[in-house]
Amino acid sequence: MMGLGFDGRVFEDNFLIADIRAKADFPIERRFWFDPAFNPGQTALMHRQPDDVWRLDFQLGWDIDRKAELNDDKVRARVRGMIGEGIDFNLVWTSIYTFRCCTMDEYVHGPVIFAGDSAHQVSPFGARGCNGGIQDADNLAWKLDLVCKGAAPKSLIDSYHLERKEAGLENIKNSSRSADFLTPRSPAHALFRDAVLDLVEQQPFARPMVNSGRLSSPCFYAQGRLFGEDALDGPLRSAPGSPAPDCPVGDDFLLGILKSNAFMLLSIGLELPHNVDISGAILPAIVLPAKDDLLRKRYLGDNPQAIYLIRPDQHVAARWAEFDPQDVARALKQSTGRVS
Ligand SMILES: Cc1cc2nc3c(=O)[nH]c(=O)nc-3n(C[C@H](O)[C@H](O)[C@H](O)COP(=O)(O)OP(=O)(O)OC[C@H]3O[C@@H](n4cnc5c(N)ncnc54)[C@H](O)[C@@H]3O)c2cc1C
Repeated sequence: MMGLGFDGRVFEDNFLIADIRAKADFPIERRFWFDPAFNPGQTALMHRQPDDVWRLDFQLGWDIDRKAELNDDKVRARVRGMIGEGIDFNLVWTSIYTFRCCTMDEYVHGPVIFAGDSAHQVSPFGARGCNGGIQDADNLAWKLDLVCKGAAPKSLIDSYHLERKEAGLENIKNSSRSADFLTPRSPAHALFRDAVLDLVEQQPFARPMVNSGRLSSPCFYAQGRLFGEDALDGPLRSAPGSPAPDCPVGDDFLLGILKSNAFMLLSIGLELPHNVDISGAILPAIVLPAKDDLLRKRYLGDNPQAIYLIRPDQHVAARWAEFDPQDVARALKQSTGRVS
């Protein structure tokens, strides 16, 4: 309706999904086959779903007769080829899909804001499609909330486009790399892929090159306009812009504790009240002792203590070695787009 399009590329390939119900003791992990005898020259994958359902996925190639491929007998023969004789199964669902990797140029068009697959689409390899859409919503919801309440300027919404387009491009890059590894698009790509596969069994250095294992992770936002200062000589992985890394804390997990749907302070190794007055705004604070090893490694490095300002979408907004309400007030202002 708005005459907007996508930039990107279509992958010329088809994949058959056959979900089967079977009582089987296959390994509970995502398994890939490259050029297996039951699907020569193509890939296949199997992973477990709930209720004894197993998802089987067969690469078919580009030039296929979709109707013939979806014929029950043909699908059953493929399944039998993969799982072997002696295991009973029912077909639960079959479908053929193709995919493309593409993104809109702008995600915000006045009052119309694009999120999820309407803004960007990726290959299914890497679990970045639905995850990316949920992260879009996570990024947008608190900004809309503040703007609607009059607590932030409308321009805060522009940062949704900046941050999520950056994430969209990152997801496209990684999921395209995985797709290219699985379904090489040129003889040179195929040669590289096959060489990696020959090496991985014996040579550890080649294992990270198996791109299909690179699963979704949230974007580390580099476009720092909305992020406050980094006044801690701390670990890179929890620097402003990063998705707050999770870790066990006592019997719980940090991200389970940091779910206030609001900006909050995380104080490690430093006493703070549970509600802190920052220029009239009350910020909840989580106060943790600096004792869990992973917490120290991911948030303190060599520092004995640290203060983090965490956004409602659990990205780190700013961090300091000491607590100063004025520093926090400044970072809060910056993170909500209230600086020109
Ligand atoms: C085979 C396959 C495997 C995948 N595996 C994964 C995975 O493991 N992990 C992962 O993160 N992602 C995965 N994805 C991607 C994921 O499914 C999508 O990214 C996700 O569903 C997108 O969600 P969405 O809400 O943005 O869009 P959609 O799920 O497409 O939802 C849009 C909805 O809007 C409705 N709609 C459209 N037009 C209108 C209209 N005019 N009025 C009202 N309603 C309308 C549609 O009917 C639809 O229900 C996979 C995709 C495929 C194809």
